[in-house]
Amino acid sequence: MKSSRTKLERYRRQTILEQVGEEGQAALGAARVLVVGLGGLGSPVALYLAAAGVGTLGLVDFDLVELSNLQRQMIFSESQVGQPKVMAARARLLALNSALKVNVHKIALNQANAAELIAGYDLVVDCSDNFAARYAINDACLALGKPFVFGSLYRFEGQVSFFCHEEAPCYRCFYPDLEQAGGDCATAQLVPNCAEAGILGSMAGVIGSLQATEALKYLLGQKEELLAASVLMFDGLAMSFSRLGLKPRTDCHCRNAAMRGHLSGMDGGIVSGADVSAGSAAASGAAVSISPAQLAQMLDEDEDLLLLDVRALKEHRAMRLRNSTLIPLPELTERISELDGEERPIVVYCRSGVRSRKACSLLRDCGFEDVRNLTGGILAWYREFEEKSIESDAALETY
Ligand SMILES: [Zn+2]
Repeated sequence: MKSSRTKLERYRRQTILEQVGEEGQAALGAARVLVVGLGGLGSPVALYLAAAGVGTLGLVDFDLVELSNLQRQMIFSESQVGQPKVMAARARLLALNSALKVNVHKIALNQANAAELIAGYDLVVDCSDNFAARYAINDACLALGKPFVFGSLYRFEGQVSFFCHEEAPCYRCFYPDLEQAGGDCATAQLVPNCAEAGILGSMAGVIGSLQATEALKYLLGQKEELLAASVLMFDGLAMSFSRLGLKPRTDCHCRNAAMRGHLSGMDGGIVSGADVSAGSAAASGAAVSISPAQLAQMLDEDEDLLLLDVRALKEHRAMRLRNSTLIPLPELTERISELDGEERPIVVYCRSGVRSRKACSLLRDCGFEDVRNLTGGILAWYREFEEKSIESDAALETY
């Protein structure tokens, strides 16, 4: 299934879309998405992302497949009852698309491990069914400068949103704390437990499909149209959609630049495949990260390091970290010899941390050992330190 002709044929129905094309397909192939929760929402999300050719999927779930799951969790089959969900789902996804890489994390995501799990991915799709996991995803995403697609379901009502995207609201702007979230049950939004509340499987299909669509749009660069400042509500009984506008809450900790980096210590270590799951991040070149605060400290202490900007020339001219070297990501492979003999630690950055993570992985494949990815990119730096250590060409002041 690996010839380029087969690949062209496989994705033809989407590459003919102006918003996809071959470039978009390549972006999907390079993308790494973490699906948290393999229940009614996670099933369609994982299936659609795999079918669309998202190159690396991470699956997080600690549970086993139960008979009562089959009514709505379409990724599983009868023969898989009793198996760990992550393994059963992995088998199904690879049967669907053998070109994928599927990392399994048989673990319950929580505040202690969320950042480590999420650090190796570009985007998270929250298909969890409890508030604690959502807050953990939210806080880790904020700290790492990564967005997540939110979805939830209660009986015939569902919600979808896109939180933590750049300056957009976070989940805590929407539900400020656990007490309030719990107290909101009467609004029938987010009571998490299908076992208690009851659910039609097709409702999970609707909301999960919307989440998958939002994830694909993001990966394809369709970022203007995301649900980043609103929550889409679906009422399956009335068969109606509505949109709730959402603004950042001024007292939410996501408005505090320091908070966006406050967990970065957790992100400072190597994301090791061995202790999280089989075939996980380190093996596939996940980034060792450095937060803006950690970089600032290194710069303040005059540590000798190479700052490598992997954005385009235009972006580099408009605004960059002082004394950085430019090698745009698309040219990195052929210009790698320019780094021959480089023994200083290399801190790679881009706009928001996605391109630089790919560059880190490439550099490590080429034998560079001390390579770190600036989390959240120059945007995160700017949020925290503004003009400090920033320079630009006078002729091009807009960024
Ligand atoms: Zn917030």
